[in-house]
Amino acid sequence: MRFRGTTIRRKIVALLLIPLVSLTAIWVFAATITSRAVFGRPDAQRIANNVVYPAEDVLSGIQQERKVALLYIANSRDSQARIAYDKQQHATDSAIAKLRTQSGTAHIQDLNSRARGYLADFLTGLGNLSSLRKQVDNQQITRESTYDGYDTFQAPAFALCDSLYLIDNADLEARFAKLGVEPLSPEFTPEALGAMASGRTAPLKSFLLDQSGIAGVGNIYADEALYRARLHPLSPAGSMKPEHWLALRDGVVAALEVGIDSGGSTIDDYRDGRGEKGRMQERFLVHTREGQPCPGDDCDGVVERIVVSGRSTYFCPSCQVKLRRKPKRRVKPRRSSG
Ligand SMILES: [Zn+2]
Repeated sequence: MRFRGTTIRRKIVALLLIPLVSLTAIWVFAATITSRAVFGRPDAQRIANNVVYPAEDVLSGIQQERKVALLYIANSRDSQARIAYDKQQHATDSAIAKLRTQSGTAHIQDLNSRARGYLADFLTGLGNLSSLRKQVDNQQITRESTYDGYDTFQAPAFALCDSLYLIDNADLEARFAKLGVEPLSPEFTPEALGAMASGRTAPLKSFLLDQSGIAGVGNIYADEALYRARLHPLSPAGSMKPEHWLALRDGVVAALEVGIDSGGSTIDDYRDGRGEKGRMQERFLVHTREGQPCPGDDCDGVVERIVVSGRSTYFCPSCQVKLRRKPKRRVKPRRSSG
């Protein structure tokens, strides 16, 4: 459904874009499923130190840069967004330089010929980063093309990883099919969210934390997203109506983007239909703010803390609407005997 019409390799690449899934984790996982004692082999540790870890740093730089680039495109006049983009470019470049150095001649003989080819592809592809950056700099590119543009750099890195231990694609696919849609991707539509929530009786907070639905939404962002959507964390997920899907989608995206912008700069005009303008530089709206007044302009509520799915959950009981479960056949409460 989400990856229709794509090859298995593309599916894997798409699934692996989830920032929380590190290349190293994939690698270790792949070694586990194929019962290979990867770290027991002397060359494996060298490969890890000189190829896999540096490649992972580059990937994480690319992913971070993609997010910062998307924020910059959305906020072209925001000098902080511009600074963040420049800063991340430098970080990515130094990771690339490190990969080039460490994977260089002394260690390349540890790799099989396929892996060498993919490493070369990865490094060559990274040479095109500057032309993508130029388009972003000049605002000559759409959000979607930027997303896709940064994506293309990643494929050879995953192919490289794949080639090191001959992972069975089908196994990887089965494993990562369990991870959900990436919330900053175009696939994360209100309708997709609604489809995931449909029929679910779990509280919204648990639903958001469940990595098989929306990947990468941690505890903080779940609280912040629900607050932004003005939805009560204990509302059953399946009770949302289409307007709630939209509000929650926007809430998740906005919360993550504020989180991404960890420098605390103002992101004041992106996807904000809730009058939160000028408030987003505060890192948390409700998370860890128990007992403090609700930050909503026309709300007198006080932030409360409850525990949902074993996680501290902060919300405003006044303005976050508790949705009722979709009406079913009414069942009389059973009385205990005696
Ligand atoms: Zn409130």
